Amino acid sequence: MSFLPKRPIYLDCQATTPVDPRVVEAMLPYFTDCPGNPSSNNHLYGWEAKAAVDLARETIALAIGADPKEIVFTSGATEANNLAIKGVAEAYLSKGRHLITMQTEHNAVLEPCKYLEKLGFEVTYLLPQPDGLLDVERLEQAIRPDTILVSVMAANNEIGVLQPLAEIGQACHQHNILFHTDAAQAIGKIPLDVESMQIDLLSITGHKLYGPKGIGALYIRNRNPHVQIAAQLQGGGQERNIRSGTLPTPQIVGLGKAIELGVAEQSTEMERLTGLRTHLWQKLQGLDGLHLNGHPQLRIPGCLSVSFEGVDGAALLLELQPYVALSSGSACASTKPTPSHVLTALGHSPKLARSTLRFGLGRFTSLDEVDQSAQYVIEIVKQLRGQAYP
Ligand SMILES: *Cc1c(COP(=O)(O)O)cnc(C)c1O
Repeated sequence: MSFLPKRPIYLDCQATTPVDPRVVEAMLPYFTDCPGNPSSNNHLYGWEAKAAVDLARETIALAIGADPKEIVFTSGATEANNLAIKGVAEAYLSKGRHLITMQTEHNAVLEPCKYLEKLGFEVTYLLPQPDGLLDVERLEQAIRPDTILVSVMAANNEIGVLQPLAEIGQACHQHNILFHTDAAQAIGKIPLDVESMQIDLLSITGHKLYGPKGIGALYIRNRNPHVQIAAQLQGGGQERNIRSGTLPTPQIVGLGKAIELGVAEQSTEMERLTGLRTHLWQKLQGLDGLHLNGHPQLRIPGCLSVSFEGVDGAALLLELQPYVALSSGSACASTKPTPSHVLTALGHSPKLARSTLRFGLGRFTSLDEVDQSAQYVIEIVKQLRGQAYP
């Protein structure tokens, strides 16, 4: 390698994304000129802030086929998942105490489930098929008379696979069970519709979709059925008493704008990113001993997870980091020595799970960056495998 780039190429869009400049521009007035509290209904400042929040709420609702009244703002997908899972568990105590989820969920679903287990709930953690997908028949077998909630993510944050939401929704509704999906990686990137997919609760976040960090929302179905939810934060009674706390107008405006742009540009961006991802996978064929993690087609366009046989994962990331910013899996888990729970659930040995790179391509990733990154990866993997430099 003849030169060291000033900044590594950013290929970690499943961890977070840069904020789109158009989103920043939409947010700016709400920090300064329009500082009102959306709950202040005696003056212009409050009214204009409320109007901005209402508009964002409408945009988000429209993007998933919901009604604006069904959107509750939260601080992100972690809070939305906690509210959905704990809020439903608490509200449906008299119906039952059993929940079903998958072993490959984000920790923001798994940890609230583990917390509920400590309180006496029972949780079934389903194993995925080797391609990462849920077998809906196994889900149906796990359903019990006391099951209240099924939580299965829309798109996996480590391997990118898309779960069969419509089939899961149908199975849940046939059995009168609520269906929650963590759509943090999916919102704005793939089509989502709470009606045709029969989703009752859906978690979103801004920062995986070129929006700001620290803002998200939970969709809570109001009709057929009307979902009950117990508030997990008490205070000023905002968001119809479901989530108290002053609404952060700039972040909400940013979330709305990010989703508006994501939906408007979705089909062209899906095509472009699928092309880039396919190109990257073809380039990597310059190496042998590769494993593509997760279903090859049913995945979010920008995500490619690859395990490299015979390479020490920590050394790989260390050698690559001056050139390409990548991770092997979840950013939250990157400080832990244990291998990814997602990759081991697919049947990988801990060793192979550690030798994994998750390529997260996004809106600002160019073909040239993909080419350069592939070249760095190929050279460094060959070097680490002790093969001759080309
Ligand atoms: C990032 C992510 C989360 C957490 O979202 P925050 O907004 O950072 O709290 C939850 N679930 C999935 C699938 C994610 O990718």
